[in-house]
Amino acid sequence: TNEAIKYKRIVLKLSGEAIAGEKGFGIDPATIKTMVAELKKVYELGTEICIVVGGGNIWRGNIGQEMGMERAQADYMGMLATVMNALALQDVLENAGVPTRVQTSIEMRQIAEPYIRRKATRHLEKGRVVIFAGGTGNPYFTTDTTAALRAAEIDADVILMAKNNVDGVYNADPNVDANATKYDNLTHLDVIAKGLKVMDSTASSLSMDNDIPLIVFNLNEPGNIVRVVKGENIGTIVRG
Ligand code: UDP
Repeated sequence: TNEAIKYKRIVLKLSGEAIAGEKGFGIDPATIKTMVAELKKVYELGTEICIVVGGGNIWRGNIGQEMGMERAQADYMGMLATVMNALALQDVLENAGVPTRVQTSIEMRQIAEPYIRRKATRHLEKGRVVIFAGGTGNPYFTTDTTAALRAAEIDADVILMAKNNVDGVYNADPNVDANATKYDNLTHLDVIAKGLKVMDSTASSLSMDNDIPLIVFNLNEPGNIVRVVKGENIGTIVRG
């Protein structure tokens, strides 16, 4: 039953704030539940789903840096934060009847599988949602870059950048500037050259070099993930 879908294999980037809910910090099970109900509809269309989770709702490397910590050390803490989010997400998905596997880029064999590309694609073929945790496994990177990297590795059709209450990429901050206008289409080079806040520049250049399209959309609008996967033009599409 997948004639209706445009994108067969997707990488959904969920930032920490998508998991935090109103409080903006920590893990909010009700927020995850709402999001999972949306995601389940996409799953039922036959889409192969990978999720790259962020960790900013718990810890970010730059917080540690501001406290005088060594950058790499603080970044490893951030990677661990993504694992906590991944486990929470896994729990909610499985309670909703969606089979999942978590794969970590840093081995934690008691709680998740290590990242193995061929195994990840096998899980997808078998109808399991694969949650990628631990970022790239390297300090100085982000989970946006992880999304671009994994999308390239598993040959995903698109990266879906889920945003909270923003429906795409604007030329100015729509919460501040009343004249801000939304872009429907952009190239990765536009994003880099204009300094638009879509992904960090490492993630953008990786997406550009590997020709991975990206859709920025509002996660909080019910039905949006389904619309995106069916190819409706909502949000901003970045390609080329
Ligand atoms: N991080 C890292 N390497 C990676 C991915 C993440 O060092 O490959 C660390 C980094 O410190 C980052 C934190 O993990 O601040 C949380 O990830 P991110 O900021 O991407 O989360 P999000 O903003 O999506 O919630």
